[in-house]
Amino acid sequence: MSWLKKYAKQEPLSLPAAPAIAAQTGRAARILGRRHTPLHAATRPIRGSDFHNGAFLRKFTEHTVTESITFLGKPKCCSGVMQVASVCTGSANDCLALDALSAAMKREGLDLGFEICFNCELRAEKRTWINDVHSALHPDKPVPCNFTDINELTTSARLCSVHGKRCRLPSALDGITGGLSCKDYARCSSNKPSGFVYQQASSPGRSADCMHGLLALVDSTHPEWLLLENTDQLAVNASHTPDLDLFMHDLSSRGYEIKVFVLESSDFVLPQARVRCYITAVLRPGRMFSIADYQSYFKHVEELVESQVVRPWSSRNTCPRSR
Ligand SMILES: [Zn+2]
Repeated sequence: MSWLKKYAKQEPLSLPAAPAIAAQTGRAARILGRRHTPLHAATRPIRGSDFHNGAFLRKFTEHTVTESITFLGKPKCCSGVMQVASVCTGSANDCLALDALSAAMKREGLDLGFEICFNCELRAEKRTWINDVHSALHPDKPVPCNFTDINELTTSARLCSVHGKRCRLPSALDGITGGLSCKDYARCSSNKPSGFVYQQASSPGRSADCMHGLLALVDSTHPEWLLLENTDQLAVNASHTPDLDLFMHDLSSRGYEIKVFVLESSDFVLPQARVRCYITAVLRPGRMFSIADYQSYFKHVEELVESQVVRPWSSRNTCPRSR
């Protein structure tokens, strides 16, 4: 948490003034600026303590939901709580984010929310952390199942570490959030393979294993949407991009429309320099959501993301980038 200490010392966080950013970002961003309130303006003032006490996350999600509704309209979908599986995140931060998004949607009058119905994490110490996060966030609710291996989720070897038995898997999911293993792709991996790994049943860093386990979970539960995170190397490094292409092909053949974003956290006011690849997939046709034109939908989402970037859109060749 060194960044937290660093930013806690220099509050309020200093950000460029809005007019200066508008001047840097060029014509496209200025046009978008007429329709959007930039993230950095909406979350001001930002103090170091805001990252400790959740104030920034609340402002961030409230702004994101409001902007999304302004730009895309209220979602045409059923109401209720979406059942989400969280796999291989190592942190349960998605649970924190989904809680904040649920509160922000409620604030906008949407009868829609999220609930993590089970987790899956290979490492025992991470499972303990994830269980502790759930206990802290929802002290009045039982800790959801936490399975031990994504490759055994849909098999008879499936084991839930919370209940010490082979708990049942839901027959259907609304969404899956996941941080699939990046060890075969990350810059910092010391023994990553030199070639492609996706077509292997098992790879040294388990990236291939995770992707195949995830596809088996998709086959078993048919989620409406997926939001997956990995290192940017999967999307920008020619040694690894064929793996992403094959994975996208396999998701697409299961009926999903896919958009990949490469985004840097600091471009969205977060106090860290972290470029990551985000794979978003939406089932076509959807059971809950009604999207008439997927190409146009993803174009709008891309524009919305672009409009929130603090730095000039074209100043970094990897940020943000989509395919
Ligand atoms: Zn269980």
